[in-house]
Amino acid sequence: MEKNNFKKQNAYVSEEEKTLDWNEIQTAFKKTFGTEIYTSWLQKISLVKEYNDYLILGVPTRFFRDWIVSRYLDKILEQVKNFKLSLNRIEFKIIEEDKSNTDLIKIEEINKITEIKDSILNYNRLNPKLNFNNFIKGKSNDIALSYSKKVCEHLSRYNPLYICGGVGLGKTHLLNAIGLELQSENNVMFISAERFMYHFIKSIKKNDMVNFKDFFRKSSVFIIDDIQFIRGKESLQEEFFHTFNSLMDKGSQIIISADRSPMKLDRIQERIKSRLAGGLVVDIESPDLELKKNIINKKILEIQDQFKENINLNEDVVNFIANESKTNIRELIGILNRVIAFSRVNNKELVVSDCRNILKDIFSQIKVITVDKIQNVVSNYFNIPLSDMLSQRRSRPLARPRQIAMYLAKKMTTRSLPEIGRRFANRDHTTVIHAVKTITRLFDQDDEMKKNINQIKSLLLEQHQ
Ligand code: ADP
Ligand code: MG
Repeated sequence: MEKNNFKKQNAYVSEEEKTLDWNEIQTAFKKTFGTEIYTSWLQKISLVKEYNDYLILGVPTRFFRDWIVSRYLDKILEQVKNFKLSLNRIEFKIIEEDKSNTDLIKIEEINKITEIKDSILNYNRLNPKLNFNNFIKGKSNDIALSYSKKVCEHLSRYNPLYICGGVGLGKTHLLNAIGLELQSENNVMFISAERFMYHFIKSIKKNDMVNFKDFFRKSSVFIIDDIQFIRGKESLQEEFFHTFNSLMDKGSQIIISADRSPMKLDRIQERIKSRLAGGLVVDIESPDLELKKNIINKKILEIQDQFKENINLNEDVVNFIANESKTNIRELIGILNRVIAFSRVNNKELVVSDCRNILKDIFSQIKVITVDKIQNVVSNYFNIPLSDMLSQRRSRPLARPRQIAMYLAKKMTTRSLPEIGRRFANRDHTTVIHAVKTITRLFDQDDEMKKNINQIKSLLLEQHQ
């Protein structure tokens, strides 16, 4: 069934025998949290996957996840640890919303996009919460925001509009906002490149390409998220190219997001790249302090408003959180949720030293980052096979990622240099030292390197999706 169709994930964590009985745990939740909280929240959580040291739990919506994380995460972890001591972390996956539970987000009602009978509709949903009103303007996103709005006023003037930037900087939010703005008057299609591929493959298997083509080509606004996903996938690129061209021919507006600029998309056909770059390319950069603070304050207001409760974070604390979260806005919101959760549990106004402790807690999760995980994420990031990255070959496109992986292994795990060397196909520890030195130097000298490493780090630290 579709809803169980998750991304291939975490192959780098060896899966243990399943030992947990979810029903039993649910019973414990009921006892701990009381019937009311249990039935509104905990009961709706499902067990998706069990690993040796962490669990992936399924929740119906993003909002649900944020709520659970901010209020109950610590207690949930404590409870599941009673059943399996080795657990030290919980991740959440958003899975299809139960139709009977529409009081949280009435997606069904709000979405009147295209009338498609099949499952594509499920992935063509716009999230009403990601709109222009709650997208906060700052120096780093000003241009992207203003052109996203202009596109809505003048369809086809900037075509395609291509928005690029690192993980968690607001690309999906902007794309979604454009979709919301335009959906009442246009046939809006909003899909991630990954879902696009999923439907493409499904249509090939079902021998139903005609419908597939029709379906995507009838939209007047075509929004596709995370286009970098098509790198290295030839037949998908071919299909995308045709879709793209026929949409452009009939004057449809196309909006694209990616984690890098068109010209930096390796393993994508040149003709596609130049098509992508043929309209307007806008960049979102890392947020500055002011934007981070504005986002924190806005989020606090939102939470207060929604749950009618008073949240007191003094300015020092807001400054502290904004300063701590270096890489992206998603992480910033995650940290804020934890801090709010803590202040609720302890029922007091927090000071900076409390926050420091909470963050220590969050960052201690870094310990569970393994060399395996780093190797996998790095090889995925650079789109090279893991076996090549570990091999003895010395060409630059393999050697650099290998060195980056060694560098991160040193920085983010507690492994010693010889141990790291062994895990890289039995290399000597001096090779690791050399790698760490080289990358440390490049990190300071080369902006591109710095950006890559920061992005990989946030991928490693990301807890969801
Ligand atoms: P990306 O698609 O670039 O990885 P997202 O659009 O998913 O990033 O953004 C990550 C999170 O940060 C989302 O919760 C989003 O709503 C929030 N966010 C990002 N930028 C802003 C902004 N300028 N104002 C408010 N929220 C933002
Ligand atoms: Mg995104």
